[in-house]
Amino acid sequence: MEENIIKGEKIERKIFWNVGELTYNLLINFKNTVLQIDAATNQELTGSILLKRAVRLATFFKKYGIGLGDTVAIMSENRLEYCTVPVASFFVGATIAPLNPDYTVGELNHILNFSKPKLIFATPSAASKLKQVKEKLDCVKHIILFDSNEENDIFLSFNNIIKGSEDENAISTFSVEKYNPKETVAAIFCSSGTTGTPKGVMITHDNITSCIEIWSHNISRMKIDKNEDPRDVIIGITPFCHSFGFITMYFYILRGKLMIVSQKFSPTIFLDTIVKYRIRTIVAPPTLLVFLIKNPIVKQYDLSCVKEVIAGASPLGKETEIELRERFKFRHAGQSYGMTETTWGVISSPHQETKLGSVGRILPGMMAKIIDDKGNALGPYENGELCLKGPMIMKGYIGNEATTLNCIDEDRWLHTGDVAYYDNDKYFFIVDRTKELIKYKGFQVAPSELEDLLLSHPAVNDAAVIGLPDEYSGELPLAFVVKKPGKDVSSDELKRLISENLSSQKQLRGGVIFIDEIPRNHVGKTLRRVLKIEAVKR
Ligand code: AMP
Repeated sequence: MEENIIKGEKIERKIFWNVGELTYNLLINFKNTVLQIDAATNQELTGSILLKRAVRLATFFKKYGIGLGDTVAIMSENRLEYCTVPVASFFVGATIAPLNPDYTVGELNHILNFSKPKLIFATPSAASKLKQVKEKLDCVKHIILFDSNEENDIFLSFNNIIKGSEDENAISTFSVEKYNPKETVAAIFCSSGTTGTPKGVMITHDNITSCIEIWSHNISRMKIDKNEDPRDVIIGITPFCHSFGFITMYFYILRGKLMIVSQKFSPTIFLDTIVKYRIRTIVAPPTLLVFLIKNPIVKQYDLSCVKEVIAGASPLGKETEIELRERFKFRHAGQSYGMTETTWGVISSPHQETKLGSVGRILPGMMAKIIDDKGNALGPYENGELCLKGPMIMKGYIGNEATTLNCIDEDRWLHTGDVAYYDNDKYFFIVDRTKELIKYKGFQVAPSELEDLLLSHPAVNDAAVIGLPDEYSGELPLAFVVKKPGKDVSSDELKRLISENLSSQKQLRGGVIFIDEIPRNHVGKTLRRVLKIEAVKR
């Protein structure tokens, strides 16, 4: 079976620092480099400003008693202040827990119970939700607000913490904590994994540094024309609360490259930014690429500066891929496949050697195999579950050993819950998903979270939620509902129940279908494929 294990090229690891040490040593060299610009306000963040702010914040953390073993959460849209929080956390060895700013109070209660942060950095619009959560969660000591000077028992001001005189000495004498990169958890991201409600994915410092090394190696092999503008500017549009957006943002800082940070997707800001900064590469979920080919406004812009697009976080439709290539004549239109549990993309289209419909080849330092029901590694063109192994695989789910063991086997292979095959050139093709997960615009929607809520309604006897295929959004959550005998409920009422309790991406945009019985197999597992076929038929 060994020949059916697809191994990425060998690479020699060179970074043995933790992410805090790595960041500090790189930022010292990027003092005059503009690392981020706000797409809407044009405000700039240089390496020097970031380093000063991060040292001040890390000093505050130390005074506050925050260090190794503590967690700091951040609940905000993309903004220039965002990166200061993870950088300072890594300086002192604390773990960062990014949260979606759209989360409701109920979702926050669930998620904060496993990450247990001592401090939460937040956008002002999240203040009232977090205040309610803090009342029930003893671990949260303060909420630190961006764009606010409010200071009291609950709230502190981010601006007040980071303001101070320019003190170069404080920076050169600042010492980053030393801790074990393989053991220490750098970040906790949310993912529902293959089943159940959202869980905390533990990404270690070593996961992040290996990701940086593996991708730097990949980038160094890109073929860039000699007469081409070599600037490498990217738009930070994918939310930083998702590992895909967060790691992209952090990677660009460590590379000393410019990211144009965009809070929310706006067609004109997005397109103006591409033209203004002559964006060469777009890394984005397929939704954004569908926008590029479908929205008539795009025709008003000259996007010839864009040479490459890389789709990730969700499946890219074949039609979209073909149209993208034909319309824009991109030099490279590829894909990258990864999961929150794999830190970032681990399978990616080789530069300018893409294959239609393929997510590419396994990256250096990583391994992949396709297994059948009995766990045998399969050969080319055989469909089975994709399994992955290597230094980018998460440590596990926080406080959830049983689920970790379910997903990472004794040989450290991560079972993805995705069905795939590879061809004779070892290019992988994702064909299906056996896990419950629904992906709406790249965001995760865990069916069981919606099902639990629907079942709490007094007129609902049974419920199952599936993803209805949708060209623009990927999938739309759709509920099949069985009413209790003699009871009635409308689809609007059930949609309202979801909208009152769950965040925007989890809404029942696919609708509600009332049926007599949810199809289940002999052990009671919902036959989601049957429901999907039924939904498409209707
Ligand atoms: P997340 O943990 O939110 O990044 O979601 C990971 C899941 O998204 C994977 O297990 C896949 O089901 C799906 N996914 C990510 N990238 C791709 C891709 N390029 N093609 C198909 N599915 C993808």
